[in-house]
Amino acid sequence: NVLLQVKNLTAVIAESKQEILKGIDLVVHEGEVHAIMGKNGSGKSTFSKVLVGHPDYEVTGGSMMFKGENLLDMEPDERSLAGMFMTFQAPVEIPGVSNIDFLHMAWNARRRKQGLPELGPIEFYSILYPKLESVKMDATFLNRNVNEGFSGGERKRNEILQLAVLGADLAILDEIDSGLDVDAFQDVAKAINALLTPNNSVLLVTHYRRLLDFIKPMYVHVMVRIIRFYAFSRIKNPTGRLNGNMASEDGKIVKTGDISIADQLEKEGYKAISVV
Ligand code: ADP
Ligand code: MG
Ligand code: MG
Repeated sequence: NVLLQVKNLTAVIAESKQEILKGIDLVVHEGEVHAIMGKNGSGKSTFSKVLVGHPDYEVTGGSMMFKGENLLDMEPDERSLAGMFMTFQAPVEIPGVSNIDFLHMAWNARRRKQGLPELGPIEFYSILYPKLESVKMDATFLNRNVNEGFSGGERKRNEILQLAVLGADLAILDEIDSGLDVDAFQDVAKAINALLTPNNSVLLVTHYRRLLDFIKPMYVHVMVRIIRFYAFSRIKNPTGRLNGNMASEDGKIVKTGDISIADQLEKEGYKAISVV
């Protein structure tokens, strides 16, 4: 079954109206792991955030459907309740809300959506505790405010804890390996792999090949950032350089294939993929 279908999606930065996504196409079925690779600045994080409805961006064209529902008609919290989960490259701190309260509230919101009775703190803790072990997180983290003063690695573990507790039909994991040493990363990768079932899917966003040794994608998509220099004018400016315009061709998936694309990228770099 199709879980996510994105067609010719274009999006701009809400404030400046600068176009970042320039026609993304992507289909994710249930049970699939997809990786989106691409250099810094190619629009990977923007795409992830647009999928979950981040207010910094505006969709200007195309469509995005999740489980047959139009994402454009849904607020971010509705997308989350419908089964989308995202880790942010720079996770937000939530002042004054402890981790356990946050998880408990989010859990009960899902219970209400399913028409089930809410769980009290003790019942909830019995669900939470085994998940803590799965990400090797110390229980003292539960009483700290969400992400406040966490190290990079602690934030990542905390995000995976949220995912493990709340579950998701589609988990969008943006640079989940950043800031993690190899040991911590292996824990996180194990926890993510443990969540994979035939019914749920993962979109891994990364510019490192290494991540894909631990969580194996079935499909690899490449986004590029290509800067072209157009020398429109032959008139030399006072610095003696040609006047020109910079134009970028980022914000598109230019290639899709299996893991061999990631190997090719590692060996030959993004030049091997470029479409200039
Ligand atoms: P990636 O995740 O692939 O590194 P991003 O999606 O973060 O790329 O960014 C793509 C491009 O859009 C970059 O040039 C970035 O500077 C720009 N960009 C993204 N979001 C914003 C924003 N909120 N304000 C200004 N520029 C942005
Ligand atoms: Mg980046
Ligand atoms: Mg990014």
